[in-house]
Amino acid sequence: MIDIAGGKGANLGELVSFGIRVPPGFIITSKAYYYFISHNNLNTKIKEILDQEKDVEEASKRIKELILKSKIPEDLEQAILSAYDELAKRVGTEILVAVRSSATAEDLENASFAGQQDTYLNVTRPELLNNVKMVWASLFNARAIEYRRAKGIDVEKVGIAVVVQKMVNSRSAGVMFTLHPANGDRNFIVIESSWGLGEAVVGGKVTPDEIVIEKSTLRIVEKRTSHKTLKIYYDRVQKRNVEVEVKGEEADRISLTDEEAIELAKLALKIEEHYGRPMDIEWAIDADMKFPDNVFIVQARAETFWSSKPKAQQEKEVEVPERKVLVKGLPASPGIASGRARILLDVKDAKDFQKGDILVTKMTDPDWVPIMKIASAIVTDEGGITSHAAIVSRELGIPAVVGTKEGTKVIKDGQDITVDATRGVVYEGRIVTEKVEEKPATAQGLSRDILLSLYPVTGTKIYMNLGQPDVIEKYVDLPFDGIGLMRIEFIVSEWIRYHPLYLIKIGKPEEFVNKLAEGVARVASAIYPRPVVVRFSDFKTNEYKGLIGGEEFEPEERNPMLGWRGVSRYISPQYEPAFRLEVRAIKKVREEMGLNNVWVMFPFVRTLTELRKAMKIMEDEGLERGKNFKVWVMAEVPSVIMLADEFSRLVDGFSIGSNDLAQLTLGVDRDSEILARTGYYDERDPAVLRSMRKLIRVAHKYGRTVSICGQAPSVYPEVTEFLVKEGIDSVSVNPDAVISTRRLVASIEQKLMLQGLRRK
Ligand code: PEP
Ligand code: MG
Repeated sequence: MIDIAGGKGANLGELVSFGIRVPPGFIITSKAYYYFISHNNLNTKIKEILDQEKDVEEASKRIKELILKSKIPEDLEQAILSAYDELAKRVGTEILVAVRSSATAEDLENASFAGQQDTYLNVTRPELLNNVKMVWASLFNARAIEYRRAKGIDVEKVGIAVVVQKMVNSRSAGVMFTLHPANGDRNFIVIESSWGLGEAVVGGKVTPDEIVIEKSTLRIVEKRTSHKTLKIYYDRVQKRNVEVEVKGEEADRISLTDEEAIELAKLALKIEEHYGRPMDIEWAIDADMKFPDNVFIVQARAETFWSSKPKAQQEKEVEVPERKVLVKGLPASPGIASGRARILLDVKDAKDFQKGDILVTKMTDPDWVPIMKIASAIVTDEGGITSHAAIVSRELGIPAVVGTKEGTKVIKDGQDITVDATRGVVYEGRIVTEKVEEKPATAQGLSRDILLSLYPVTGTKIYMNLGQPDVIEKYVDLPFDGIGLMRIEFIVSEWIRYHPLYLIKIGKPEEFVNKLAEGVARVASAIYPRPVVVRFSDFKTNEYKGLIGGEEFEPEERNPMLGWRGVSRYISPQYEPAFRLEVRAIKKVREEMGLNNVWVMFPFVRTLTELRKAMKIMEDEGLERGKNFKVWVMAEVPSVIMLADEFSRLVDGFSIGSNDLAQLTLGVDRDSEILARTGYYDERDPAVLRSMRKLIRVAHKYGRTVSICGQAPSVYPEVTEFLVKEGIDSVSVNPDAVISTRRLVASIEQKLMLQGLRRK
């Protein structure tokens, strides 16, 4: 009954129909909305405003005013109030209700896209009718109007239902998943719980307690109590939700009893069984009622992240027997490995590090790469999922858990451990005896052509990110259309090892040029004629300083992440001679070695002026933009997106650096494990997504291409889906994500084509 009750309403009704306890309430159907609209003859007026007013913000404001000042027909008003009174009678007097929007079929996609999920909490009887009108008015948020304009959706078609439910006086609340959210394991239910209202958990304001329950036995197999420093509750005096600090013993006490957890798990199983797929469920425990009547399901929706992964990826899960957890962190590079832990705080102490040992350190930098290459797994105290350790490990195909906070303290040097990086956990002892290596298909005797025919063709190109030239042999037969980001920092720190300015000083600049050219050529020739987008160096000052002879040329910077990075460096009198060496290396590969599939990309571009200067230097060295030689810029500083029209005049394409773009859009240090844990660093944030969309639109207007080479599409299929829908030209992912991304993109494209046909 989505058309009548809206998605949320229909869903709640369905839950009730098979015996799930939801907070009692009623639904004001979409018919009521249409009645209200036609009674006041609003459709014509709304259309008029939409036609006259080109500024969407202004149109939105005017339509909302119009709706709010229109009168609800008498009989409808009575129907709503008497439904409220009946509800109040059933659950006790003086109830507060939640008034929530429930989008109908026509508008479902829009609603989730436009974040049009208006909910008014703690509404009293006198406020009810006005709040209902506010929900109706929310159909005309600026974003929703914009969306419908873009899609050509007629306003007469859109409607909305309103869900009215008793407010739960929530003692504890949270979410639960009918699979393990960290790795997609369907044998478990994972409950996240904290004190007060569920917003604290859903909004990532606290690290919740976590309870893992085995489905087959309904046994609690893991319980983690967190330090929960705040709760949100409704203050009846102030008439609003307030955040209060949780102090003392309560902060460290578990917020859910075993009995409640198991009751929740039972409900979760029922819900999953009913819908026949993994579910993501919001729940609450009422403070005033007795068990089990106090256990409520607030919302249930299909789990989309793991459920949309190709099956093969889910089944590769490794079975792990009972074990003791040493530390937990972020799963940065999937896989599992056992070995001897080596606690190393300084790379200088790594002399007796053996092949197969597990590296446990604070954070890695390029100096660590030779050690990382022979390690069987990596564990770090610091860093988020785009930190150096995370990126390098993924590329090397080594399991890595980052941001454990105390790995170097808790794990003992020489201790046998197992790193389960799919789950983000480090266990005591050796659990797996050998590394499971997948056989490449060529080793099974298939030619590259046959191999590629096994994968779907996509209109959106699938590129691969690569840093280390020598790993190309391992990946050469993967179905990618080119290298969308070649980070040269690896060639510099491992092959060249000297600071370029130092090499100039000692009269050996060609050492730099030749080795860099050799590294790039290795990749470009292996995949010829597929393109390789080589990015000029993007070390930070501290990383350049780590190169041999670097001390002398590198200043001390307080915040290298925002410092002398990227193009600002190339055009500075100090570094310019070194940048020229980078350019000469590219020229050598293209012209002397004949590898004209090599293109270049500028990282960390901030301004038009600096880019013009850097391109001038490049031209001065004889490298000019042309049909065969494309020049891209990374879109990672928001200024590039703001001025995308201007930048379009200078270059052939853009590549979204979502790692830096998320950092700079949200003002969140991408390496801060504190913010990563609390969910602040998230490339899926609507602000970041909107930027990406804007870039695609503007670049296309000027005939330029857009790609993405940050981690986001390798990690979040929903970001890939979003970008493909928005018309991105290519997506560049880590080697381990090439196949699944190609399949995913193919399926999204097919869906788009079908939708197009149906519309016709
Ligand atoms: C990015 O910022 O998304 C990116 C690809 O560049 P890096 O991670 O090397 O800064
Ligand atoms: Mg970047």
